[in-house]
Amino acid sequence: MAADAIPLRTRLVPAMARGFIGRCPHCGQGRIFGRFLKVRPECDSCGLELHHHRADDLPPYVVIFIVAHIVGYLILETESAYEVPLWVEMGVWPAFTLLFALILLQPVKGAVVGLQYALGMHGFATLPRSRPTHGSEETRLAAAAAGAPDRHRL
Ligand SMILES: [Zn+2]
Repeated sequence: MAADAIPLRTRLVPAMARGFIGRCPHCGQGRIFGRFLKVRPECDSCGLELHHHRADDLPPYVVIFIVAHIVGYLILETESAYEVPLWVEMGVWPAFTLLFALILLQPVKGAVVGLQYALGMHGFATLPRSRPTHGSEETRLAAAAAGAPDRHRL
């Protein structure tokens, strides 16, 4: 098999970044979400099968971790610096927390799908044959290792 025919796997951080902005972790062109939080069965640009992902509960855990730290810090700082009436805080912080969590949930889920793709988890070990670009950010996979991703180059 010629070297050009070997599919390239995007590295971990670029794959997660592409997923975070809702793009396919493999090609960076196609969208991975059909509607809110619903991952498409495959990328319409490169054909990467996305239905393998098993994001499950990890995105909500990550979102809770991020949002709780930021909102907790903001509440503490607000309490320390200002005298805000309790009814204002009872209205603002839950609404801000809910909105922040909903905004972050889909990008974090995309990043988790990118993570699983980059590590070759859950059926992501095989890549589509076509790929639009060959950038320096990717690692080459040997054709013989199509069933086992190269984890040493992540
Ligand atoms: Zn794609």
